[in-house]
Amino acid sequence: MKILKFGGTSVGSASRIKDVAKLILDGENKIVVLSAMSGTTNSLVEIANYLYKKNHDGANEVINKLEQKYIQHIEELYSTQEYKTKGLEVISEHFNYIKSFTKDIFTIFEEKTILAQGELISTSMMNLYLQEQGINSCLLPALEFMRIDKNNEPDTAYIKENLQKTLEANQGYDIYITQGYICRNAFGEIDNLQRGGSDYTASLIGAAILADEIQIWTDIDGMHNNDPRFVEGTTPVSDLSFDEAAELAYFGAKILHPTCVLPAKVNNIPVRLLNTMDPKAHGTLISSRQCEKRIAAIAAKDNITAIKIKSGRMLLAYGFLRKVFEIFESYKTPIDMITTSEVGVSVTIDNNRHIDDIVDDLKKYGTVEVDKDQVIICVVGDLIASSKGYATKIFSSLKEVPIRMISYGGSSHNISILINADDKVAALRALSAGLF
Ligand code: ASP
Ligand code: MG
Repeated sequence: MKILKFGGTSVGSASRIKDVAKLILDGENKIVVLSAMSGTTNSLVEIANYLYKKNHDGANEVINKLEQKYIQHIEELYSTQEYKTKGLEVISEHFNYIKSFTKDIFTIFEEKTILAQGELISTSMMNLYLQEQGINSCLLPALEFMRIDKNNEPDTAYIKENLQKTLEANQGYDIYITQGYICRNAFGEIDNLQRGGSDYTASLIGAAILADEIQIWTDIDGMHNNDPRFVEGTTPVSDLSFDEAAELAYFGAKILHPTCVLPAKVNNIPVRLLNTMDPKAHGTLISSRQCEKRIAAIAAKDNITAIKIKSGRMLLAYGFLRKVFEIFESYKTPIDMITTSEVGVSVTIDNNRHIDDIVDDLKKYGTVEVDKDQVIICVVGDLIASSKGYATKIFSSLKEVPIRMISYGGSSHNISILINADDKVAALRALSAGLF
Protein backbone atom coordinates (compact mmCIF):
# COMPACT_ATOMS: atom_id res chain seq x y z
CA MET A 1 0.00 0.00 0.00
CA LYS A 2 1.11 3.56 -0.65
CA ILE A 3 0.72 6.57 1.63
CA LEU A 4 -0.11 9.87 -0.08
CA LYS A 5 0.09 13.13 1.86
CA PHE A 6 -1.41 16.35 0.56
CA GLY A 7 -0.50 19.67 2.18
CA GLY A 8 -2.66 22.68 2.99
CA THR A 9 -2.46 24.40 -0.40
CA SER A 10 -3.22 21.13 -2.22
CA VAL A 11 -6.56 21.03 -0.39
CA GLY A 12 -6.82 24.83 -0.13
CA SER A 13 -10.07 25.29 -2.07
CA ALA A 14 -13.02 23.27 -3.33
CA SER A 15 -11.44 22.97 -6.76
CA ARG A 16 -8.09 21.85 -5.33
CA ILE A 17 -9.90 19.19 -3.26
CA LYS A 18 -11.54 17.96 -6.46
CA ASP A 19 -8.10 17.80 -8.15
CA VAL A 20 -6.72 15.72 -5.28
CA ALA A 21 -9.73 13.40 -5.50
CA LYS A 22 -8.95 12.82 -9.20
CA LEU A 23 -5.32 12.13 -8.38
CA ILE A 24 -6.01 9.50 -5.77
CA LEU A 25 -8.47 7.55 -7.89
CA ASP A 26 -6.09 5.33 -9.82
CA GLY A 27 -7.60 2.03 -8.75
CA GLU A 28 -4.94 1.31 -6.12
CA ASN A 29 -5.68 1.03 -2.40
CA LYS A 30 -4.05 3.78 -0.42
CA ILE A 31 -3.99 5.79 2.76
CA VAL A 32 -4.35 9.52 2.14
CA VAL A 33 -3.06 11.92 4.80
CA LEU A 34 -4.38 15.47 4.65
CA SER A 35 -3.34 18.76 6.22
CA ALA A 36 -5.84 21.42 7.16
CA MET A 37 -6.92 23.72 4.30
CA SER A 38 -4.23 26.39 3.87
CA GLY A 39 -4.42 29.24 6.35
CA THR A 40 -6.67 27.32 8.72
CA THR A 41 -4.08 26.30 11.30
CA ASN A 42 -2.79 29.89 11.38
CA SER A 43 -6.33 31.13 12.02
CA LEU A 44 -6.79 28.53 14.77
CA VAL A 45 -3.54 29.72 16.37
CA GLU A 46 -4.88 33.28 16.20
CA ILE A 47 -8.14 32.20 17.85
CA ALA A 48 -6.24 30.43 20.62
CA ASN A 49 -4.08 33.51 21.20
CA TYR A 50 -7.18 35.67 21.62
CA LEU A 51 -8.69 33.14 24.01
CA TYR A 52 -5.54 33.10 26.14
CA LYS A 53 -5.91 36.87 26.47
CA LYS A 54 -9.63 36.47 27.22
CA ASN A 55 -10.37 38.62 24.18
CA HIS A 56 -13.59 36.85 23.21
CA ASP A 57 -14.63 39.45 20.65
CA GLY A 58 -11.33 39.05 18.85
CA ALA A 59 -11.70 35.27 18.92
CA ASN A 60 -15.29 35.33 17.71
CA GLU A 61 -14.41 37.59 14.82
CA VAL A 62 -11.76 35.16 13.53
CA ILE A 63 -14.02 32.16 14.20
CA ASN A 64 -16.93 33.67 12.28
CA LYS A 65 -14.76 34.71 9.36
CA LEU A 66 -13.26 31.23 9.13
CA GLU A 67 -16.67 29.58 9.39
CA GLN A 68 -18.03 31.74 6.56
CA LYS A 69 -15.11 30.66 4.38
CA TYR A 70 -15.89 27.01 5.07
CA ILE A 71 -19.58 27.48 4.30
CA GLN A 72 -18.51 28.87 0.94
CA HIS A 73 -16.17 25.89 0.35
CA ILE A 74 -19.01 23.48 1.10
CA GLU A 75 -21.25 25.29 -1.36
CA GLU A 76 -18.62 24.92 -4.09
CA LEU A 77 -17.44 21.40 -3.27
CA TYR A 78 -20.62 19.36 -3.34
CA SER A 79 -23.06 19.19 -6.18
CA THR A 80 -26.02 17.54 -4.47
CA GLN A 81 -28.19 19.05 -1.76
CA GLU A 82 -27.78 15.89 0.29
CA TYR A 83 -24.01 16.34 0.52
CA LYS A 84 -24.17 20.11 0.93
CA THR A 85 -26.32 19.44 3.99
CA LYS A 86 -23.91 16.81 5.28
CA GLY A 87 -20.98 19.15 4.71
CA LEU A 88 -22.68 22.02 6.51
CA GLU A 89 -23.40 19.71 9.42
CA VAL A 90 -19.70 18.88 9.70
CA ILE A 91 -18.81 22.57 9.62
CA SER A 92 -21.32 23.63 12.23
CA GLU A 93 -20.39 20.74 14.52
CA HIS A 94 -16.70 21.74 14.52
CA PHE A 95 -17.33 25.46 14.73
CA ASN A 96 -19.83 25.08 17.57
CA TYR A 97 -17.16 23.11 19.35
CA ILE A 98 -14.57 25.85 18.74
CA LYS A 99 -17.06 28.47 19.95
CA SER A 100 -17.65 26.50 23.15
CA PHE A 101 -14.08 27.35 24.21
CA THR A 102 -14.89 31.05 24.34
CA LYS A 103 -16.84 30.49 27.56
CA ASP A 104 -14.58 28.54 29.89
CA ILE A 105 -11.00 28.61 31.10
CA PHE A 106 -8.45 28.32 28.37
CA THR A 107 -5.24 26.33 28.76
CA ILE A 108 -2.80 24.52 26.53
CA PHE A 109 -5.17 21.49 26.42
CA GLU A 110 -7.98 23.56 24.94
CA GLU A 111 -5.49 25.16 22.55
CA LYS A 112 -4.37 21.81 21.20
CA THR A 113 -7.98 20.70 20.81
CA ILE A 114 -8.70 23.82 18.76
CA LEU A 115 -5.58 23.30 16.62
CA ALA A 116 -6.80 19.79 15.77
CA GLN A 117 -10.02 21.02 14.16
CA GLY A 118 -8.43 22.01 10.82
CA GLU A 119 -7.37 18.49 9.90
CA LEU A 120 -10.58 17.00 11.30
CA ILE A 121 -12.61 19.27 9.00
CA SER A 122 -10.51 18.86 5.83
CA THR A 123 -10.54 15.05 6.07
CA SER A 124 -14.30 14.92 6.68
CA MET A 125 -14.85 17.20 3.69
CA MET A 126 -12.69 15.02 1.44
CA ASN A 127 -14.29 11.82 2.64
CA LEU A 128 -17.77 13.18 2.00
CA TYR A 129 -16.71 14.42 -1.43
CA LEU A 130 -15.39 10.99 -2.40
CA GLN A 131 -18.58 9.38 -1.17
CA GLU A 132 -20.64 11.83 -3.20
CA GLN A 133 -18.61 10.68 -6.22
CA GLY A 134 -19.54 7.08 -5.43
CA ILE A 135 -16.09 6.15 -4.13
CA ASN A 136 -15.77 3.53 -1.43
CA SER A 137 -13.76 5.65 1.01
CA CYS A 138 -13.37 5.56 4.75
CA LEU A 139 -12.19 8.01 7.40
CA LEU A 140 -9.50 6.65 9.73
CA PRO A 141 -9.47 8.77 12.89
CA ALA A 142 -5.80 9.61 13.59
CA LEU A 143 -6.65 10.16 17.25
CA GLU A 144 -7.25 6.41 17.52
CA PHE A 145 -3.74 5.40 16.53
CA MET A 146 -1.34 8.35 16.31
CA ARG A 147 0.37 8.92 19.64
CA ILE A 148 3.40 10.56 21.20
CA ASP A 149 5.10 9.42 24.39
CA LYS A 150 6.17 11.33 27.50
CA ASN A 151 9.15 12.79 25.63
CA ASN A 152 6.89 13.97 22.80
CA GLU A 153 8.41 11.34 20.53
CA PRO A 154 6.15 9.15 18.40
CA ASP A 155 5.17 5.97 20.22
CA THR A 156 5.90 3.74 17.24
CA ALA A 157 4.83 0.46 18.87
CA TYR A 158 1.48 1.97 19.86
CA ILE A 159 0.99 3.50 16.41
CA LYS A 160 1.73 0.21 14.65
CA GLU A 161 -0.59 -1.83 16.86
CA ASN A 162 -3.48 0.59 16.82
CA LEU A 163 -3.27 1.52 13.16
CA GLN A 164 -3.41 -2.20 12.38
CA LYS A 165 -6.49 -2.55 14.59
CA THR A 166 -8.19 0.46 13.00
CA LEU A 167 -7.48 -0.89 9.51
CA GLU A 168 -8.75 -4.35 10.44
CA ALA A 169 -11.94 -2.85 11.82
CA ASN A 170 -12.42 -1.01 8.52
CA GLN A 171 -11.63 -3.58 5.87
CA GLY A 172 -12.84 -3.52 2.32
CA TYR A 173 -12.50 0.17 1.47
CA ASP A 174 -10.61 1.43 -1.58
CA ILE A 175 -9.37 4.65 -0.05
CA TYR A 176 -8.58 5.54 3.53
CA ILE A 177 -8.42 9.19 4.52
CA THR A 178 -6.75 10.32 7.72
CA GLN A 179 -5.61 13.48 9.47
CA GLY A 180 -2.01 14.63 9.39
CA TYR A 181 -0.46 16.53 12.30
CA ILE A 182 -2.88 15.53 15.07
CA CYS A 183 -2.30 12.84 17.69
CA ARG A 184 -2.78 12.00 21.33
CA ASN A 185 -0.09 12.33 23.96
CA ALA A 186 0.99 9.93 26.70
CA PHE A 187 -1.96 11.06 28.82
CA GLY A 188 -4.47 10.41 26.07
CA GLU A 189 -5.05 14.12 25.47
CA ILE A 190 -5.31 15.65 22.02
CA ASP A 191 -1.91 16.88 20.90
CA ASN A 192 0.00 17.41 17.67
CA LEU A 193 3.27 16.68 15.90
CA GLN A 194 4.21 20.39 15.72
CA ARG A 195 3.58 22.80 12.86
CA GLY A 196 4.14 21.22 9.48
CA GLY A 197 3.83 17.80 11.11
CA SER A 198 1.55 16.22 8.50
CA ASP A 199 4.61 15.00 6.59
CA TYR A 200 5.67 13.27 9.79
CA THR A 201 2.25 11.60 10.09
CA ALA A 202 2.59 10.22 6.56
CA SER A 203 6.02 8.84 7.25
CA LEU A 204 5.02 7.34 10.62
CA ILE A 205 2.06 5.61 8.99
CA GLY A 206 4.29 4.42 6.16
CA ALA A 207 6.70 2.96 8.69
CA ALA A 208 3.92 1.38 10.75
CA ILE A 209 2.47 -0.60 7.84
CA LEU A 210 5.75 -0.95 5.91
CA ALA A 211 4.26 0.87 2.96
CA ASP A 212 5.64 0.45 -0.56
CA GLU A 213 6.12 4.19 -0.86
CA ILE A 214 5.37 7.46 0.90
CA GLN A 215 4.33 10.28 -1.40
CA ILE A 216 4.44 13.89 -0.26
CA TRP A 217 2.38 15.99 -2.67
CA THR A 218 2.94 19.75 -2.77
CA ASP A 219 2.91 22.56 -5.33
CA ILE A 220 6.41 22.16 -6.66
CA ASP A 221 7.94 19.41 -8.76
CA GLY A 222 10.24 18.02 -6.07
CA MET A 223 13.11 19.34 -4.04
CA HIS A 224 14.98 21.94 -6.06
CA ASN A 225 18.74 22.27 -6.22
CA ASN A 226 18.54 25.74 -4.69
CA ASP A 227 15.89 27.98 -3.15
CA PRO A 228 13.56 29.02 -6.03
CA ARG A 229 12.40 32.05 -4.02
CA PHE A 230 15.84 33.63 -4.37
CA VAL A 231 17.56 31.94 -7.29
CA GLU A 232 16.35 31.79 -10.87
CA GLY A 233 16.59 28.66 -12.98
CA THR A 234 16.67 26.11 -10.15
CA THR A 235 15.84 22.55 -11.17
CA PRO A 236 14.35 19.60 -9.30
CA VAL A 237 16.80 17.02 -7.97
CA SER A 238 15.61 13.67 -9.28
CA ASP A 239 17.25 11.48 -6.64
CA LEU A 240 18.39 12.06 -3.09
CA SER A 241 19.59 9.66 -0.43
CA PHE A 242 17.76 9.67 2.91
CA ASP A 243 20.75 11.38 4.51
CA GLU A 244 20.93 14.10 1.87
CA ALA A 245 17.20 14.74 2.12
CA ALA A 246 17.39 14.94 5.91
CA GLU A 247 20.18 17.53 5.74
CA LEU A 248 18.32 19.60 3.14
CA ALA A 249 15.03 19.45 5.01
CA TYR A 250 16.69 20.39 8.26
CA PHE A 251 18.77 23.15 6.72
CA GLY A 252 15.97 24.98 5.08
CA ALA A 253 14.33 23.20 2.14
CA LYS A 254 10.72 24.00 2.99
CA ILE A 255 9.14 21.27 0.90
CA LEU A 256 9.71 18.48 3.40
CA HIS A 257 9.48 18.50 7.18
CA PRO A 258 12.83 17.33 8.59
CA THR A 259 11.31 14.79 10.97
CA CYS A 260 9.72 12.96 8.07
CA VAL A 261 12.90 11.33 6.80
CA LEU A 262 13.91 9.16 9.75
CA PRO A 263 10.95 6.72 9.95
CA ALA A 264 11.24 6.19 6.19
CA LYS A 265 14.99 5.68 6.36
CA VAL A 266 14.83 3.23 9.27
CA ASN A 267 12.33 1.09 7.37
CA ASN A 268 13.87 1.75 3.96
CA ILE A 269 10.65 3.06 2.45
CA PRO A 270 11.15 5.37 -0.55
CA VAL A 271 9.71 8.86 -0.24
CA ARG A 272 8.59 10.61 -3.40
CA LEU A 273 8.03 14.37 -3.55
CA LEU A 274 5.39 15.11 -6.18
CA ASN A 275 3.54 18.08 -7.60
CA THR A 276 -0.28 18.28 -7.63
CA MET A 277 -0.04 20.96 -10.37
CA ASP A 278 2.02 18.64 -12.59
CA PRO A 279 1.29 15.08 -11.47
CA LYS A 280 3.27 13.49 -14.31
CA ALA A 281 6.53 15.20 -13.32
CA HIS A 282 9.14 12.84 -11.87
CA GLY A 283 9.64 14.94 -8.73
CA THR A 284 12.26 13.79 -6.25
CA LEU A 285 12.78 10.21 -5.18
CA ILE A 286 14.37 9.86 -1.74
CA SER A 287 15.77 6.42 -1.10
CA SER A 288 18.75 4.56 0.32
CA ARG A 289 20.60 4.96 -2.98
CA GLN A 290 23.41 7.51 -2.87
CA CYS A 291 24.23 9.13 -6.21
CA GLU A 292 27.98 9.34 -6.59
CA LYS A 293 30.19 12.24 -7.50
CA ARG A 294 27.74 15.07 -7.64
CA ILE A 295 26.58 18.03 -5.63
CA ALA A 296 22.83 17.62 -5.21
CA ALA A 297 21.49 20.85 -3.76
CA ILE A 298 21.92 23.97 -1.68
CA ALA A 299 19.67 25.14 1.14
CA ALA A 300 19.74 27.98 3.64
CA LYS A 301 18.58 28.10 7.22
CA ASP A 302 17.70 31.56 8.58
CA ASN A 303 17.67 33.12 12.04
CA ILE A 304 20.87 31.54 13.23
CA THR A 305 22.87 32.86 16.15
CA ALA A 306 26.58 32.12 16.43
CA ILE A 307 28.24 31.98 19.84
CA LYS A 308 31.99 32.01 20.21
CA ILE A 309 33.67 31.00 23.47
CA LYS A 310 37.35 31.85 23.70
CA SER A 311 39.41 30.54 26.54
CA GLY A 312 43.07 30.02 27.39
CA ARG A 313 41.81 27.16 29.46
CA MET A 314 40.82 25.19 26.42
CA LEU A 315 44.48 24.86 25.41
CA LEU A 316 45.57 21.26 25.96
CA ALA A 317 42.61 20.76 28.31
CA TYR A 318 40.11 17.96 28.23
CA GLY A 319 36.52 18.24 29.38
CA PHE A 320 36.19 21.82 28.13
CA LEU A 321 33.80 20.98 25.29
CA ARG A 322 31.72 18.78 27.58
CA LYS A 323 31.20 21.68 29.97
CA VAL A 324 30.21 23.96 27.10
CA PHE A 325 27.77 21.42 25.68
CA GLU A 326 26.24 20.77 29.08
CA ILE A 327 25.19 24.40 29.28
CA PHE A 328 23.28 24.11 26.01
CA GLU A 329 21.81 20.82 27.16
CA SER A 330 20.58 22.31 30.45
CA TYR A 331 18.61 24.90 28.45
CA LYS A 332 17.35 22.24 25.99
CA THR A 333 18.89 24.23 23.15
CA PRO A 334 20.15 22.18 20.20
CA ILE A 335 23.42 23.10 18.52
CA ASP A 336 23.56 23.01 14.71
CA MET A 337 27.14 23.78 13.69
CA ILE A 338 30.38 23.53 15.63
CA THR A 339 33.88 24.65 14.75
CA THR A 340 36.88 24.56 17.03
CA SER A 341 40.37 25.97 17.30
CA GLU A 342 42.85 25.32 20.04
CA VAL A 343 41.73 28.40 21.96
CA GLY A 344 38.08 28.61 21.22
CA VAL A 345 34.93 27.07 19.93
CA SER A 346 32.07 28.51 17.89
CA VAL A 347 28.63 26.97 17.83
CA THR A 348 25.35 27.98 16.23
CA ILE A 349 21.81 27.73 17.55
CA ASP A 350 18.46 28.52 15.95
CA ASN A 351 16.50 28.94 19.15
CA ASN A 352 17.26 32.11 21.08
CA ARG A 353 14.80 31.55 23.90
CA HIS A 354 17.50 31.01 26.54
CA ILE A 355 20.34 32.89 24.90
CA ASP A 356 20.92 35.31 27.80
CA ASP A 357 21.13 32.54 30.38
CA ILE A 358 23.34 30.47 28.10
CA VAL A 359 25.73 33.37 27.57
CA ASP A 360 25.85 34.10 31.33
CA ASP A 361 26.72 30.49 32.07
CA LEU A 362 29.29 30.29 29.28
CA LYS A 363 31.11 33.33 30.67
CA LYS A 364 32.44 31.07 33.44
CA TYR A 365 34.65 29.43 30.82
CA GLY A 366 35.96 32.36 28.80
CA THR A 367 35.02 35.42 26.79
CA VAL A 368 31.80 35.04 24.85
CA GLU A 369 30.82 36.75 21.61
CA VAL A 370 27.35 36.54 20.06
CA ASP A 371 26.49 37.21 16.41
CA LYS A 372 22.81 37.27 15.56
CA ASP A 373 21.24 37.41 12.06
CA GLN A 374 23.38 34.67 10.62
CA VAL A 375 22.43 32.12 7.98
CA ILE A 376 23.69 28.58 7.48
CA ILE A 377 24.24 27.73 3.83
CA CYS A 378 24.26 24.00 3.44
CA VAL A 379 25.70 22.29 0.36
CA VAL A 380 24.62 18.67 0.06
CA GLY A 381 25.86 15.88 -2.16
CA ASP A 382 28.34 13.08 -2.42
CA LEU A 383 31.13 14.93 -0.65
CA ILE A 384 33.21 12.05 0.69
CA ALA A 385 36.79 12.90 1.56
CA SER A 386 38.16 10.96 -1.41
CA SER A 387 36.32 13.06 -3.96
CA LYS A 388 38.49 15.95 -5.04
CA GLY A 389 37.74 19.51 -6.02
CA TYR A 390 34.31 20.16 -4.48
CA ALA A 391 35.59 22.35 -1.63
CA THR A 392 37.55 24.45 -4.13
CA LYS A 393 34.50 24.86 -6.34
CA ILE A 394 32.30 25.83 -3.42
CA PHE A 395 34.70 28.34 -1.93
CA SER A 396 35.76 29.92 -5.18
CA SER A 397 32.06 30.47 -5.93
CA LEU A 398 31.85 32.29 -2.60
CA LYS A 399 34.93 34.42 -3.08
CA GLU A 400 32.97 37.67 -2.64
CA VAL A 401 31.12 36.53 0.49
CA PRO A 402 32.53 36.99 4.02
CA ILE A 403 32.44 33.63 5.80
CA ARG A 404 32.05 33.30 9.57
CA MET A 405 32.22 29.49 10.07
CA ILE A 406 32.83 26.39 7.95
CA SER A 407 31.89 22.86 8.91
CA TYR A 408 32.95 19.90 6.79
CA GLY A 409 33.62 16.26 7.59
CA GLY A 410 30.76 15.75 10.06
CA SER A 411 29.14 13.61 7.42
CA SER A 412 30.18 12.71 3.92
CA HIS A 413 27.39 14.61 2.26
CA ASN A 414 27.32 18.08 3.76
CA ILE A 415 29.36 21.27 3.92
CA SER A 416 27.84 23.99 6.09
CA ILE A 417 28.92 27.60 5.84
CA LEU A 418 27.82 30.37 8.17
CA ILE A 419 27.42 33.87 6.72
CA ASN A 420 25.63 37.13 7.49
CA ALA A 421 21.93 37.19 6.64
CA ASP A 422 22.58 40.18 4.35
CA ASP A 423 24.81 38.04 2.13
CA LYS A 424 22.44 35.10 1.83
CA VAL A 425 20.87 35.79 -1.54
CA ALA A 426 24.21 36.66 -3.12
CA ALA A 427 25.73 33.47 -1.70
CA LEU A 428 22.89 31.25 -2.94
CA ARG A 429 23.11 32.77 -6.43
CA ALA A 430 26.91 32.53 -6.53
CA LEU A 431 26.76 28.88 -5.53
CA SER A 432 24.17 28.03 -8.17
CA ALA A 433 26.27 29.78 -10.80
CA GLY A 434 29.45 28.04 -9.68
CA LEU A 435 28.17 24.54 -8.99
CA PHE A 436 25.37 23.77 -11.43
N1 ASP B 1 -1.89 22.05 9.48
C1 ASP B 1 -0.65 21.97 10.19
C2 ASP B 1 0.16 23.22 9.97
O1 ASP B 1 -0.28 24.12 9.28
C3 ASP B 1 0.14 20.75 9.84
C4 ASP B 1 0.61 20.66 8.40
O2 ASP B 1 0.05 21.32 7.53
O3 ASP B 1 1.54 19.90 8.14
O4 ASP B 1 1.23 23.34 10.51
MG1 MG C 1 4.27 21.23 4.99
